[in-house]
Amino acid sequence: MRTRRPAGPAGALAGALLLAGCVAPGPGEPAPTPRSSAASTVAPAPTRAPSPTQTPTPAPSPTADPALAPAPPPDGAPAPAPAEPVQPPEPAFAATSAPIGPELAARMAPSWRAGCPVPLEELRYLTLTHRGFGGEVVTGELVVHADAVEAVTGVFRALFEAGYPIRSMRLVDDFDADDDASMAADNTSAFNCRAVAGTSSWSEHAYGRAIDLNPVENPYVSGAGVFPPAGAPFADRPQAPGVVHPGDAVVRAFAAAGWGWGGTWRGAKDYQHFSATGR
Ligand SMILES: [Zn+2]
Repeated sequence: MRTRRPAGPAGALAGALLLAGCVAPGPGEPAPTPRSSAASTVAPAPTRAPSPTQTPTPAPSPTADPALAPAPPPDGAPAPAPAEPVQPPEPAFAATSAPIGPELAARMAPSWRAGCPVPLEELRYLTLTHRGFGGEVVTGELVVHADAVEAVTGVFRALFEAGYPIRSMRLVDDFDADDDASMAADNTSAFNCRAVAGTSSWSEHAYGRAIDLNPVENPYVSGAGVFPPAGAPFADRPQAPGVVHPGDAVVRAFAAAGWGWGGTWRGAKDYQHFSATGR
């Protein structure tokens, strides 16, 4: 178990030491052994421990203020030079597309079965870079129809460049293909071999040509009904992160690919829903 260290010089020092300790040998390099003096030259050998005649330094304690009393280096080791802050390069958008292999087919058992309108061979597994709600760059996944790969990839590139945040983007199979559970988790998804809610007609999701985007921020609203229920605060479409509005960068990105938005439907509005057919 690791304990939480306070920020400040002591914390920075601990981080630097931790980093130094995390450098693993590369492939083909011998692992250092405790007796290998050559390999241990990376870390200076500890100098003698402070003697009782030296000016006592306050020992670190849970109540010590690290800003006032920096903790001494462990074992009397010389303090390393302050680490230079490393500015990582701005991450770029990346996307992959692959056929559904046996392993993925097994994972997709909840969302696909014999009798679905599209065979697995016509579906593709995508990984797509997107932003999280904290601005972080993460990789999500979607299953879409093979003929939608280019359009969907272009849309998500545009969403990434617009800084549009996506809460979660995992296959509905992680929610046992339960649309209510996926929506409640604010999960963005595409393929799901299911009927339109309340009907016996295949949903556009059953063809892999529809995407539900941030369902909590963009719920399905029918009269007083809001789905998922957690989307109730967003039913009247506030200006908030993730909330899609007419003509915004999200709607424009899908429109550029020829996809329509359920937020334009007469009657019930499906604000999370974008599809190739507009249905
Ligand atoms: Zn939908």
